[in-house]
Amino acid sequence: MCRDLNGTHENSKIRILIEFNDIHNPDDRSSGFFIGKNMNEIQEVLKISNSIVITTHKSPDGDAIGSSLALYHFLKKLNKKVTVIVPDAFPEFLNWMEGTETILYYDTQTELADQVIGKAEVIFSLDYNSLTRISALRNPIEKSTAVKIVIDHHQDPKEFATHYFVDSTSCSTCQLVYEFIQQLDQLDHIDKTIGACIYCGIMTDTGSFRYPSTTAKTHAIISHLIDLGVENSKIHQAVYDTATEDRLRLLGYALTEKLVVLKAHNAAYISLSQDELQRFFFRAGDAEGMVNYALSIHGIKFAALLIEKEEEIRLSLRSKDDFFVNKIANKYFNGGGHVYAAGGMLATTLEEAIKRVEEVMKING
Ligand code: 5GP
Ligand code: MN
Repeated sequence: MCRDLNGTHENSKIRILIEFNDIHNPDDRSSGFFIGKNMNEIQEVLKISNSIVITTHKSPDGDAIGSSLALYHFLKKLNKKVTVIVPDAFPEFLNWMEGTETILYYDTQTELADQVIGKAEVIFSLDYNSLTRISALRNPIEKSTAVKIVIDHHQDPKEFATHYFVDSTSCSTCQLVYEFIQQLDQLDHIDKTIGACIYCGIMTDTGSFRYPSTTAKTHAIISHLIDLGVENSKIHQAVYDTATEDRLRLLGYALTEKLVVLKAHNAAYISLSQDELQRFFFRAGDAEGMVNYALSIHGIKFAALLIEKEEEIRLSLRSKDDFFVNKIANKYFNGGGHVYAAGGMLATTLEEAIKRVEEVMKING
């Protein structure tokens, strides 16, 4: 069964650990609204469990890998047997994080991952709120009878777990992992290694502390992490200043040749075919951030990036001001996400997808 959790929970087995969906001003959270209902249940679950699996969404980003590894290192400190399992590959610019070498990939290590999930007593779902976001990894997770805990910051979580530590006003899952550890009263377990993973996810999901989701609390957490010795500038360099020449040339090509601006509709988009991607030896993460260039044009409120994959067209959507792109992703592109950053897919040719995007931009812009 898959239904929104925003309705009544009375007949549900679900335990909401925190829920802030009704709060519109994220800063309200600093005024004592932070509650940890049922956290003692989690304390108990963690105390009696040994085998723990941490999962995150397909095409994992900085927040997905950062939150998974932060929680991994924390649970290791509690002497648990922990495995991080991801649906597929993540960008090389995240490889510097400690623990990446222990991660299992479900697409290429299915059998081993199935065995580990089969033995898990607790399964964490980080940075996703619907099993549609984890490709084939959904099968063993659905089958498992483990205690399932979601830690996530997307809107409208679906019902597939037993415990939810969710807040759609939070800038990142990494911030929620910090707050989860804080609620467990174990902030003293956060060290430089855990801190670096948390820092990375907060940095990447806030566009380097730029987006409106960045609050005083976010900066307070960052301050604590830097106090612990987290090398903020080095992390920034490792993520943003390690591009290959091919990646940069692909960006140059995309901006010069492929950027289409629909000025009258305050919209812009970039599309890239498989042929074009291969010309620049495309690798996971090479298009990360590209859509933001289209959004950075004065007057543009809605930007899209279309990438031709083997069996579908992937869309990255971004917006600002009064334009909410999660609704667009949901209504037209079989997807979802956050108010200003969302994604989706179209099972069509690239040409048809471009036509559809232009139509949507013209209707809504
Ligand atoms: P990106 O454009 O960076 O791939 O994704 C932006 C945001 O939208 C991310 O927070 C991601 O979780 C969300 N997102 C991307 N693709 C999908 C999708 O197909 N479905 C849903 N529900 N969210 C998505
Ligand atoms: Mn995230």
